[in-house]
Amino acid sequence: MVKRLLVSLAITFSVAAICAWPLTYLGIGFLSSWLFFSAIQFIGFYFYSEHVRRKMALQEQAFILAQEAELSKQGAEVTCPCDQGIKCFVPISLNERNEYNCPGCKKDINVFVDLKTALVTTPVLEPPDTVIKQTILS
Ligand SMILES: [Zn+2]
Repeated sequence: MVKRLLVSLAITFSVAAICAWPLTYLGIGFLSSWLFFSAIQFIGFYFYSEHVRRKMALQEQAFILAQEAELSKQGAEVTCPCDQGIKCFVPISLNERNEYNCPGCKKDINVFVDLKTALVTTPVLEPPDTVIKQTILS
């Protein structure tokens, strides 16, 4: 890490020196132009890294949205009522008509969703004799 930082600083200052050296022939001081080019590189790198950071954040956000959209898809593997009995995964939506085209018989098939209810129960985690004693004593 420190080695990479030192190498990066050495490259930055070398590039600034290379850019500042020809300006000495025009009568511009080496130190002032070297500082100018060094500062320009730091400012440029700041904006470049900020651009990369924002781009990565946007890509990450797009990836998360795509992942959530993929996870929100619900469907079921259904069997076509034709003689071939081909199974297909069909996306199911409760507020739309769920149809698909069977790849075997090329017919449009409608998927009906059958809703059922069930009583919510609590699993008994204690040993049966303890439950029986508690039931008798209460
Ligand atoms: Zn079919």
